[in-house]
Amino acid sequence: MKTKQDLKASDKQFIWHPFTQMQDWERSAPIIISEGKGCFLRDLDGKWYLDGVSSLWVNVHGHRKKEIDRAIKAQVNKISHSTLLGLSNEPAILLAERLVKLLNAPLPAPHYARVFYSDNGSTAVEVALKMAFQYWRHTGVETKNSFLCLNNAYHGDTLGAVSVGGIDMFHKAFGPLLFRTFRAPSPFCYRCELQRHHPECGCACLGPMEEILKSHHQEIAGLIIEPLVQAAGGMIMSPPGYLKGVRELCTKYDVLMIADEVATGFGRTGRMFACEHEDVLPDIVCLSKGLTGGYLPLAATMTTDRIYSAFLGEFRDLKTFFHGHSFTGNPLGCAAALACLEIFEKERVVERLQPKVLLLKKLLGEMNGLAHVGDTRSRGLMAAVELVLDKGTREPYSWEDRIGWKVALKAREKGLLIRPLGNIIVIMPPLSITKKDLARLMSVIKESIEEVT
Ligand SMILES: *Cc1c(COP(=O)(O)O)cnc(C)c1O
Repeated sequence: MKTKQDLKASDKQFIWHPFTQMQDWERSAPIIISEGKGCFLRDLDGKWYLDGVSSLWVNVHGHRKKEIDRAIKAQVNKISHSTLLGLSNEPAILLAERLVKLLNAPLPAPHYARVFYSDNGSTAVEVALKMAFQYWRHTGVETKNSFLCLNNAYHGDTLGAVSVGGIDMFHKAFGPLLFRTFRAPSPFCYRCELQRHHPECGCACLGPMEEILKSHHQEIAGLIIEPLVQAAGGMIMSPPGYLKGVRELCTKYDVLMIADEVATGFGRTGRMFACEHEDVLPDIVCLSKGLTGGYLPLAATMTTDRIYSAFLGEFRDLKTFFHGHSFTGNPLGCAAALACLEIFEKERVVERLQPKVLLLKKLLGEMNGLAHVGDTRSRGLMAAVELVLDKGTREPYSWEDRIGWKVALKAREKGLLIRPLGNIIVIMPPLSITKKDLARLMSVIKESIEEVT
């Protein structure tokens, strides 16, 4: 048996942590999680913490949710993995049918037709990009070889996903490896690239997007966007009407619209999917994170019959979609996802979320008075507090100050685990959080900001 001290030492000796300066990590006192229950995580020392960012935005119904635990165990007793290449499996079939029905449910007529499985958000995006590109080839259009994406976008860490990303700190280093894209402004009202004000501007940031499309639509296969919330870019929330405007431009210029709902899907924004807020129908939708309730790595790229049928033909036509992963359609992940969706329905999760959404908005509003809180914003149970050096000029803290990180460490002492994005405090608890725990979470954040700034 390894002791706690042994485990901490081995972690530092053997693991290379993601998005982590390991020199800092090796000098730190790492928290090692040993169990979870509901919205709480317990570390090896026996201390319990509130899981303030849903274990990196994935958890939905809480940890150790009975129904999901049971579904996975039942599936383990049958089979844990078999391939979807040339074979099929029961949970993958049932989940595909359920997902297609779920996405079509709010619509007057079916729009979505097919599910392509993969393992994570980045691969869901890779699949979407390759699908969109090849769709045009199969329909005889040879010039649409590029994509339109947004400043501040984040679509994952594989090279295709990085190519359509727009966060310099993460993405610039890989520049020479990336394919060329077109960039439209980020719909970031607090720090508007066009120096305009909403709503008087009438979503002026759609203007430069249209200019690009007007000049280059023959080169653009698809536009990829995180609907309503550019999450990793700083919880940037687009103003009402913006998303609808993007859909209209895609239609007008015959460019496929890819909605990356990896962070926003499964109730996170207060509706099942963010696109529902503006009745927008993308041509391709990427899902992951909350799909399995945050239990297992699984992703789905959903698309329409129009795109799917362009890939049909004789084998010698080479219209096959040559893409797949070892764990595509993993039965354990699909069983977890089926249980997760069952809970959404049975517990009326989205409906019962609404009072919490309002409470979060109210408590966020109360933080606006703090000296170094420049902006607060929320959409559903996704929220952010942007810390600034100077409220009047909106001058940011220098990134080297790591002000967000200091607040997170302070919150940790008070029993709350959060992970900031630079100067932005991210608040994204599991949808199952109680109002009492949500109020506690917000008061810890408020105190931590007051003590650090
Ligand atoms: C997290 C995220 C991804 C990447 O998902 P991974 O599972 O980490 O590869 C892609 N798009 C969005 C919008 C995300 O938030």
